[in-house]
This record gives sequence, C-alpha cells and structure tokens, in this order.
Amino acid sequence: MLKENLEAVEEKIQAACKRAGRDRDEVTLIAVSKTKPVEMLREAYDLGVRIFGENKVQEIRDKYEALPKDIQWHMIGHLQTNKVKYIADKVELIHSVDSLKLAETIEKEAVKHNRVIDILLEVNVAREASKFGLAMEEVIPLFNKIGKLPHLRVRGLMTIAPFVENPENNRAIFADLHKLYVDIKEKNIDNGTVSILSMGMTNDYEVAIEEGATMVRIGTGIFGARDYSTQ
Ligand SMILES: *Cc1c(COP(=O)(O)O)cnc(C)c1O
Repeated sequence: MLKENLEAVEEKIQAACKRAGRDRDEVTLIAVSKTKPVEMLREAYDLGVRIFGENKVQEIRDKYEALPKDIQWHMIGHLQTNKVKYIADKVELIHSVDSLKLAETIEKEAVKHNRVIDILLEVNVAREASKFGLAMEEVIPLFNKIGKLPHLRVRGLMTIAPFVENPENNRAIFADLHKLYVDIKEKNIDNGTVSILSMGMTNDYEVAIEEGATMVRIGTGIFGARDYSTQ
C-alpha cells in the first residue's frame, strides 16, 4: 500500500508542477509520519523516503533512535520552549516558529550543540483562532529580530491552511503567503537564506504547488488515516 501511495503522490506532484510550469525538483516532499509505528517508517525508508515530518518531540526522539541516521527529521508541530532541548541536535528543519521567545530558546540550544538550526516562520494566514502562527503583518518584524540570532537561519515560511472540502477554497491563502515570501526575498531582508515555502497537505497540496509551495507535508496520502483512539 505504501508503495502505491507514494507513487500516486509523486504522480500528482509531477502533474501539479507541470500545470504550474515548474520543475519537479523545486518541490520537496515531507512524509508526515506522526502517530505511525517505526515499522511503517522503515518500510517508507526502504522505498527511498529520507525526509519525515513529526509533530511531537517524544516521537522524534523515539523514532530518531530506532531508525537510520541519514533520515532528515522535520519538526512540523507546535513546539514548547521547554522541549526544544530534546530535539535541537536531531532536527533538520523546524517549521513552526511563531514567537521571539521560541526562537531565542532554539538559539540557546543551537549554541550548546555548536550548530546553526534552520527554521521556518509559521503563519496563520486565515487567522483561525484554533491555530498557532503569526499574523501576516507580524512576519517581517519578527524576521528582523530573529535575523540577529547567529545560530538560527530563517529559511522561509510555513502555513497550515484550514480544513476545507474543496481545496480550491485554500488557493487564495496559498497565494497570499507566496506573495509575502516573494516580498521578503525581493526586499533582501533575508541575506539570501529564504528559499522554502512549506504549504500543502494531503487535501490541498496540488493547489499549494500551483501557488508556489516548495515543500509539501503529506501524511494521510502516504501512510493512510491516523488512529488517535489508542493515545
Ligand atoms: C498532520 C500534519 C500534516 C499532514 O496532514 P495530512 O492531512 O495527513 O497530509 C501536515 N502538516 C502538519 C503541520 C501536520 O500537523
């Protein structure tokens, strides 16, 4: 099942790139494996998957220990400052930075591990009260502050669009975030480090790619529905 799912997702990514006149290699697939057992990640690994997305610190720690070290782990979920220390040496990219306090904590942990940590700023484009993330107008001010932290590198922006029946309903949200992303690059406030626009999930990744996503985070479409009943 995993093999067929991965192939189907790959085909849809390619088709969306083609429709948008983009190269396939402009879009990176993040396999979102949250709640899924290590055996399933191992199967995906054996099929060539090397980038996994998780939203819980404990799960990253456990899976990091259990699986090969050439995997890139992406933290895509809300991150509490007191838990940064557990993953600071394990993650390739943190998608969910939405406050100066969190950024400063990551900076401190990065210093301890003598590394630079790549991050994205999470933006709540639709201003949903239930979601984390910055308002659009907060992005550039925070960007300027975080830019002064030497062990953090802001690589771009991330959003979680609302759950909608028709993915077309999220097109304007993706377009808005893409516009902000281009603005930041054009204003050159990023020293050239911004090249990632993380948007699009199982339900809406094709539209997100058409609107300029460079990373799509796909869980259900690869691993099947998640079962939260035992947690
Ligand atoms: C769970 C999750 C995803 C993947 O969602 P699917 O709808 O299963 O593809 C993507 N991004 C974030 C931040 C998530 O928490």
